[in-house]
Amino acid sequence: MSDGMASRRPGIGYPEEPTSPELALELPAGKRWVLVLSHDVDHLGLREHVVDGFLLRQGWNAIRQNLTRGRFRPLRFLDQVAGLGLACVGVDRWDVIGDLLEEERRAGVPSTWFFAMRRGLGIAYRPERAAPVIRELASAGREIGLHGQTPDDAEGLAAELRELGEIAGRTIAGVRMHYLRLTRQVLDGLERAGGSYDSTVMDRTHLDPDTHPLQQPRRLRDRLVEVPLHVMDSTLFSVTGLALSLDEAIDYVRRVAERARALGRAVVVNLHPNYFSRQTPEVREWYRRLLGELTRRSDVHVTDLAGLLELLRDP
Ligand SMILES: [Zn+2]
Repeated sequence: MSDGMASRRPGIGYPEEPTSPELALELPAGKRWVLVLSHDVDHLGLREHVVDGFLLRQGWNAIRQNLTRGRFRPLRFLDQVAGLGLACVGVDRWDVIGDLLEEERRAGVPSTWFFAMRRGLGIAYRPERAAPVIRELASAGREIGLHGQTPDDAEGLAAELRELGEIAGRTIAGVRMHYLRLTRQVLDGLERAGGSYDSTVMDRTHLDPDTHPLQQPRRLRDRLVEVPLHVMDSTLFSVTGLALSLDEAIDYVRRVAERARALGRAVVVNLHPNYFSRQTPEVREWYRRLLGELTRRSDVHVTDLAGLLELLRDP
Protein backbone atom coordinates (compact mmCIF):
# COMPACT_ATOMS: atom_id res chain seq x y z
CA MET A 1 0.00 0.00 0.00
CA SER A 2 1.46 3.35 -1.00
CA ASP A 3 1.82 6.36 1.28
CA GLY A 4 -0.32 8.29 -1.18
CA MET A 5 -3.26 6.05 -0.33
CA ALA A 6 -2.62 6.41 3.38
CA SER A 7 -2.68 10.20 3.30
CA ARG A 8 -6.14 10.22 1.64
CA ARG A 9 -7.63 8.16 4.45
CA PRO A 10 -9.49 9.94 7.26
CA GLY A 11 -7.50 8.11 9.94
CA ILE A 12 -6.99 4.40 10.31
CA GLY A 13 -8.77 2.59 13.13
CA TYR A 14 -11.38 5.21 14.03
CA PRO A 15 -14.89 3.87 14.78
CA GLU A 16 -16.36 7.07 13.38
CA GLU A 17 -15.20 10.16 11.56
CA PRO A 18 -13.19 12.54 13.78
CA THR A 19 -14.59 16.06 14.05
CA SER A 20 -11.26 17.84 13.61
CA PRO A 21 -8.10 17.48 11.57
CA GLU A 22 -4.95 16.52 13.47
CA LEU A 23 -4.49 18.89 16.39
CA ALA A 24 -1.40 21.08 16.57
CA LEU A 25 1.23 20.49 19.23
CA GLU A 26 2.42 23.50 21.19
CA LEU A 27 5.94 22.39 22.07
CA PRO A 28 7.54 23.67 25.29
CA ALA A 29 10.40 26.12 24.74
CA GLY A 30 13.46 24.45 23.24
CA LYS A 31 11.68 21.14 22.56
CA ARG A 32 11.29 19.65 19.09
CA TRP A 33 9.12 16.59 19.77
CA VAL A 34 7.17 14.82 22.51
CA LEU A 35 7.54 11.30 23.95
CA VAL A 36 4.46 9.94 25.74
CA LEU A 37 4.86 6.88 28.01
CA SER A 38 1.97 4.54 28.77
CA HIS A 39 1.39 1.07 30.20
CA ASP A 40 -1.46 -1.38 29.62
CA VAL A 41 -1.70 -3.50 32.77
CA ASP A 42 -2.89 -6.88 31.47
CA HIS A 43 -1.39 -8.76 34.43
CA LEU A 44 -0.41 -7.98 38.01
CA GLY A 45 1.68 -11.16 38.00
CA LEU A 46 1.90 -14.74 36.79
CA ARG A 47 0.39 -16.14 39.99
CA GLU A 48 -3.13 -14.96 39.16
CA HIS A 49 -2.97 -17.40 36.23
CA VAL A 50 -1.91 -20.55 38.08
CA VAL A 51 -5.39 -22.04 37.80
CA ASP A 52 -6.70 -20.70 34.47
CA GLY A 53 -4.59 -22.52 31.87
CA PHE A 54 -2.82 -19.29 30.91
CA LEU A 55 0.56 -20.66 32.01
CA LEU A 56 0.18 -23.56 29.58
CA ARG A 57 -0.54 -21.10 26.78
CA GLN A 58 2.53 -19.13 27.90
CA GLY A 59 4.54 -22.34 27.59
CA TRP A 60 3.30 -22.74 24.01
CA ASN A 61 4.14 -19.08 23.41
CA ALA A 62 7.68 -19.68 24.74
CA ILE A 63 8.07 -22.34 22.04
CA ARG A 64 6.79 -19.98 19.33
CA GLN A 65 9.00 -17.09 20.43
CA ASN A 66 12.22 -19.07 20.95
CA LEU A 67 12.22 -22.35 19.06
CA THR A 68 11.49 -21.28 15.50
CA ARG A 69 13.93 -21.52 12.62
CA GLY A 70 14.26 -17.74 12.39
CA ARG A 71 14.85 -17.31 16.09
CA PHE A 72 16.35 -20.31 17.88
CA ARG A 73 17.04 -19.54 21.56
CA PRO A 74 16.86 -22.80 23.54
CA LEU A 75 18.36 -21.30 26.72
CA ARG A 76 15.83 -18.49 26.71
CA PHE A 77 13.10 -21.06 26.21
CA LEU A 78 14.29 -23.10 29.21
CA ASP A 79 14.56 -19.97 31.38
CA GLN A 80 11.03 -18.86 30.44
CA VAL A 81 9.62 -22.30 31.22
CA ALA A 82 11.49 -22.23 34.55
CA GLY A 83 9.82 -18.87 35.27
CA LEU A 84 6.39 -20.38 34.60
CA GLY A 85 7.18 -23.27 36.94
CA LEU A 86 8.42 -20.93 39.67
CA ALA A 87 5.12 -19.01 39.51
CA CYS A 88 3.37 -22.18 40.68
CA VAL A 89 5.50 -22.21 43.85
CA GLY A 90 5.10 -18.52 44.56
CA VAL A 91 8.09 -16.87 42.84
CA ASP A 92 6.53 -14.37 40.46
CA ARG A 93 8.74 -12.92 37.73
CA TRP A 94 5.86 -10.75 36.47
CA ASP A 95 5.51 -8.97 39.81
CA VAL A 96 7.45 -6.02 38.41
CA ILE A 97 5.20 -2.95 38.61
CA GLY A 98 7.25 -1.60 41.55
CA ASP A 99 10.51 -2.09 39.60
CA LEU A 100 9.12 -0.29 36.57
CA LEU A 101 7.85 2.61 38.68
CA GLU A 102 11.27 2.86 40.33
CA GLU A 103 13.03 2.85 36.94
CA GLU A 104 10.82 5.69 35.71
CA ARG A 105 11.28 7.65 38.92
CA ARG A 106 15.06 7.40 38.54
CA ALA A 107 14.72 8.67 34.97
CA GLY A 108 12.43 11.45 36.22
CA VAL A 109 9.61 10.73 33.75
CA PRO A 110 5.82 10.53 34.14
CA SER A 111 3.59 7.84 32.61
CA THR A 112 -0.03 6.74 32.25
CA TRP A 113 -1.11 3.33 33.57
CA PHE A 114 -4.27 1.68 32.19
CA PHE A 115 -5.88 -0.80 34.63
CA ALA A 116 -8.73 -3.23 33.91
CA MET A 117 -11.83 -3.49 36.10
CA ARG A 118 -13.15 -6.63 34.36
CA ARG A 119 -11.60 -10.01 33.73
CA GLY A 120 -11.45 -11.69 30.32
CA LEU A 121 -9.31 -12.16 27.20
CA GLY A 122 -6.24 -13.07 29.24
CA ILE A 123 -6.85 -10.57 32.05
CA ALA A 124 -7.38 -12.47 35.31
CA TYR A 125 -6.80 -9.99 38.14
CA ARG A 126 -9.69 -8.57 40.15
CA PRO A 127 -10.21 -4.90 41.03
CA GLU A 128 -9.66 -5.61 44.73
CA ARG A 129 -6.21 -7.02 43.97
CA ALA A 130 -5.34 -4.11 41.73
CA ALA A 131 -6.62 -1.45 44.16
CA PRO A 132 -3.50 -1.15 46.37
CA VAL A 133 -1.26 -1.03 43.30
CA ILE A 134 -3.45 1.65 41.68
CA ARG A 135 -3.40 3.72 44.87
CA GLU A 136 0.37 3.42 45.16
CA LEU A 137 0.85 4.59 41.58
CA ALA A 138 -1.68 7.40 41.97
CA SER A 139 0.00 8.64 45.13
CA ALA A 140 3.33 8.53 43.25
CA GLY A 141 1.80 11.04 40.81
CA ARG A 142 1.12 8.59 37.99
CA GLU A 143 -1.88 9.14 35.75
CA ILE A 144 -4.40 6.27 36.02
CA GLY A 145 -6.53 5.31 33.01
CA LEU A 146 -8.98 2.50 32.26
CA HIS A 147 -7.96 -0.57 30.27
CA GLY A 148 -11.49 -1.04 28.95
CA GLN A 149 -13.09 -4.46 28.65
CA THR A 150 -16.65 -3.61 27.54
CA PRO A 151 -16.53 -2.56 23.88
CA ASP A 152 -20.19 -3.30 23.13
CA ASP A 153 -22.03 -1.64 26.02
CA ALA A 154 -21.76 2.08 26.79
CA GLU A 155 -23.23 1.82 30.28
CA GLY A 156 -20.88 -1.07 31.09
CA LEU A 157 -17.88 0.96 30.00
CA ALA A 158 -19.07 3.96 32.02
CA ALA A 159 -19.43 1.69 35.06
CA GLU A 160 -15.83 0.49 34.63
CA LEU A 161 -14.67 4.11 34.56
CA ARG A 162 -16.63 5.00 37.71
CA GLU A 163 -15.33 1.97 39.61
CA LEU A 164 -11.74 2.76 38.73
CA GLY A 165 -12.34 6.39 39.69
CA GLU A 166 -13.53 5.31 43.14
CA ILE A 167 -10.37 3.27 43.66
CA ALA A 168 -8.03 5.97 42.34
CA GLY A 169 -9.88 8.74 44.19
CA ARG A 170 -10.27 10.89 41.11
CA THR A 171 -12.27 11.10 37.87
CA ILE A 172 -10.69 8.94 35.18
CA ALA A 173 -10.07 10.95 32.01
CA GLY A 174 -8.78 8.32 29.61
CA VAL A 175 -9.34 4.85 28.19
CA ARG A 176 -7.33 2.38 26.18
CA MET A 177 -9.30 -0.68 25.16
CA HIS A 178 -7.82 -4.15 25.81
CA TYR A 179 -7.06 -5.81 22.45
CA LEU A 180 -7.57 -2.33 20.93
CA ARG A 181 -11.33 -2.96 20.56
CA LEU A 182 -12.50 0.63 20.04
CA THR A 183 -16.18 1.13 19.17
CA ARG A 184 -18.79 3.90 19.17
CA GLN A 185 -20.21 2.45 22.41
CA VAL A 186 -16.83 3.03 24.07
CA LEU A 187 -17.05 6.69 23.08
CA ASP A 188 -20.64 6.82 24.40
CA GLY A 189 -19.50 5.35 27.73
CA LEU A 190 -16.55 7.72 27.94
CA GLU A 191 -18.86 10.71 27.42
CA ARG A 192 -21.34 9.40 30.00
CA ALA A 193 -18.67 9.00 32.69
CA GLY A 194 -17.15 12.41 32.05
CA GLY A 195 -13.95 11.16 30.43
CA SER A 196 -12.04 13.22 27.90
CA TYR A 197 -9.85 10.98 25.76
CA ASP A 198 -9.27 7.55 24.30
CA SER A 199 -5.86 6.20 23.26
CA THR A 200 -6.69 2.99 21.41
CA VAL A 201 -6.28 3.77 17.70
CA MET A 202 -3.13 2.17 16.28
CA ASP A 203 -2.27 2.01 12.60
CA ARG A 204 -0.51 -1.33 12.33
CA THR A 205 -0.40 -1.23 8.54
CA HIS A 206 2.30 1.48 8.47
CA LEU A 207 5.11 0.44 10.78
CA ASP A 208 8.17 1.51 8.78
CA PRO A 209 9.99 3.84 11.22
CA ASP A 210 11.31 6.09 8.46
CA THR A 211 7.92 6.79 6.88
CA HIS A 212 5.65 6.23 9.90
CA PRO A 213 2.58 8.50 9.57
CA LEU A 214 2.68 9.28 13.34
CA GLN A 215 -1.04 10.07 13.36
CA GLN A 216 -1.59 12.92 15.82
CA PRO A 217 -4.59 13.42 18.14
CA ARG A 218 -7.93 14.50 16.66
CA ARG A 219 -11.24 15.49 18.17
CA LEU A 220 -14.14 13.02 18.29
CA ARG A 221 -17.66 14.42 18.79
CA ASP A 222 -15.96 17.77 19.53
CA ARG A 223 -15.73 16.92 23.27
CA LEU A 224 -13.44 13.91 23.15
CA VAL A 225 -9.90 13.50 21.87
CA GLU A 226 -8.44 10.38 20.26
CA VAL A 227 -4.72 9.96 20.93
CA PRO A 228 -3.29 7.36 18.54
CA LEU A 229 -0.69 4.91 19.79
CA HIS A 230 2.50 4.38 17.76
CA VAL A 231 5.03 2.04 19.36
CA MET A 232 4.02 -1.10 21.25
CA ASP A 233 6.43 -3.62 22.79
CA SER A 234 4.61 -6.70 21.49
CA THR A 235 4.48 -5.35 17.93
CA LEU A 236 8.26 -4.87 17.94
CA PHE A 237 9.34 -8.11 19.60
CA SER A 238 6.75 -10.81 18.94
CA VAL A 239 7.30 -13.33 16.17
CA THR A 240 3.74 -12.46 15.10
CA GLY A 241 4.83 -8.79 14.86
CA LEU A 242 8.13 -7.44 13.56
CA ALA A 243 10.20 -10.03 15.51
CA LEU A 244 13.02 -7.54 16.15
CA SER A 245 16.12 -8.24 18.24
CA LEU A 246 17.06 -5.88 21.09
CA ASP A 247 19.45 -3.87 18.90
CA GLU A 248 16.92 -3.68 16.07
CA ALA A 249 14.18 -2.53 18.45
CA ILE A 250 16.42 0.21 19.86
CA ASP A 251 17.29 1.30 16.34
CA TYR A 252 13.58 1.30 15.45
CA VAL A 253 12.76 3.75 18.24
CA ARG A 254 15.74 5.95 17.34
CA ARG A 255 14.42 6.22 13.79
CA VAL A 256 10.84 6.92 14.93
CA ALA A 257 12.26 9.58 17.27
CA GLU A 258 14.16 11.13 14.38
CA ARG A 259 10.98 11.26 12.33
CA ALA A 260 9.01 12.81 15.21
CA ARG A 261 11.71 15.44 15.66
CA ALA A 262 11.71 16.26 11.95
CA LEU A 263 7.90 16.61 11.95
CA GLY A 264 7.57 18.21 15.42
CA ARG A 265 5.17 15.47 16.54
CA ALA A 266 4.34 13.30 19.53
CA VAL A 267 5.22 9.59 19.76
CA VAL A 268 3.01 7.49 22.05
CA VAL A 269 4.69 4.34 23.43
CA ASN A 270 3.01 1.42 25.20
CA LEU A 271 5.02 -0.98 27.39
CA HIS A 272 3.06 -3.81 29.02
CA PRO A 273 4.52 -3.84 32.56
CA ASN A 274 4.73 -7.65 32.68
CA TYR A 275 7.33 -7.60 29.91
CA PHE A 276 9.62 -5.50 32.13
CA SER A 277 10.72 -8.84 33.48
CA ARG A 278 13.44 -11.47 33.49
CA GLN A 279 11.01 -13.57 31.41
CA THR A 280 11.60 -11.18 28.49
CA PRO A 281 14.96 -9.53 29.27
CA GLU A 282 15.28 -7.94 25.82
CA VAL A 283 12.03 -5.99 26.33
CA ARG A 284 13.15 -4.87 29.80
CA GLU A 285 16.53 -3.80 28.44
CA TRP A 286 14.88 -2.03 25.47
CA TYR A 287 12.73 0.08 27.80
CA ARG A 288 15.67 0.87 30.12
CA ARG A 289 17.78 1.99 27.19
CA LEU A 290 14.86 3.96 25.73
CA LEU A 291 14.42 5.83 29.02
CA GLY A 292 18.15 6.38 29.42
CA GLU A 293 18.88 7.48 25.89
CA LEU A 294 15.80 9.47 24.97
CA THR A 295 15.39 11.28 28.27
CA ARG A 296 18.98 12.51 28.11
CA ARG A 297 18.23 14.30 24.83
CA SER A 298 17.57 18.01 25.29
CA ASP A 299 15.17 18.22 22.31
CA VAL A 300 12.43 15.94 23.73
CA HIS A 301 9.60 16.67 26.15
CA VAL A 302 8.64 13.45 27.99
CA THR A 303 5.14 13.33 29.43
CA ASP A 304 2.06 11.20 30.11
CA LEU A 305 -1.20 11.31 28.17
CA ALA A 306 -2.71 14.00 30.40
CA GLY A 307 0.40 16.08 29.79
CA LEU A 308 0.10 15.60 26.05
CA LEU A 309 -3.53 16.77 26.08
CA GLU A 310 -2.44 20.06 27.63
CA LEU A 311 -0.17 20.74 24.66
CA LEU A 312 -2.85 20.24 22.00
CA ARG A 313 -4.29 23.22 20.11
CA ASP A 314 -6.90 23.49 17.37
CA PRO A 315 -5.04 24.20 14.14
ZN1 LIG B 1 -4.45 -5.22 27.10
